[in-house]
Amino acid sequence: MNYGDIRPIDVANGPGVRVSLFVSGCTHCCEGCFNPETWDFQYGKPFGPEQETEILKHLSKPYIKGLSLLGGEPFHPKNQQAVLELVEKVRAAYPQKDIWCYTGYLFEELAAGRVGEQSRALLEELDVLVDGPFVLAQKSLSLRFRGSENQRLIQVAPSLERGEVVLWDEKE
Ligand code: SF4
Repeated sequence: MNYGDIRPIDVANGPGVRVSLFVSGCTHCCEGCFNPETWDFQYGKPFGPEQETEILKHLSKPYIKGLSLLGGEPFHPKNQQAVLELVEKVRAAYPQKDIWCYTGYLFEELAAGRVGEQSRALLEELDVLVDGPFVLAQKSLSLRFRGSENQRLIQVAPSLERGEVVLWDEKE
């Protein structure tokens, strides 16, 4: 897997102050995508142990609430394994911090394991999934942590448990 950026401080992609990883490669080709250069799986630099260590170091700061995974497409079958390995290390090192992930796939597809072998395993490691493609016709600047009305902020664990989507509520 390649990645485009690691941001040690990000306040736009989830609640609180976060660390963000932008992975490379996406095949959704959403019209109006904010980051089309990341569609290329070769974009950026290779992601490996050095970058994992860098992310873990950034996450150690007490003011960091959690990790956000963006793209590109973290759930693309070519990226799932590397993202899953990172997330497992983050969980082990910082169980109190939360993990958000943005994807162009739908929660139901991922939960059913229809997007590659590790999609369900990766989904189970997340706290919140922001799902669905960016739809230009449903774009709204008033939305928090998402770009278009169709996208959902989903609490993963209760959604998997109940078998239906439970939306994330900032007040909770
Ligand atoms: S899923 Fe995200 S990165 Fe991929 S084309 Fe859509 S908006 Fe762009």
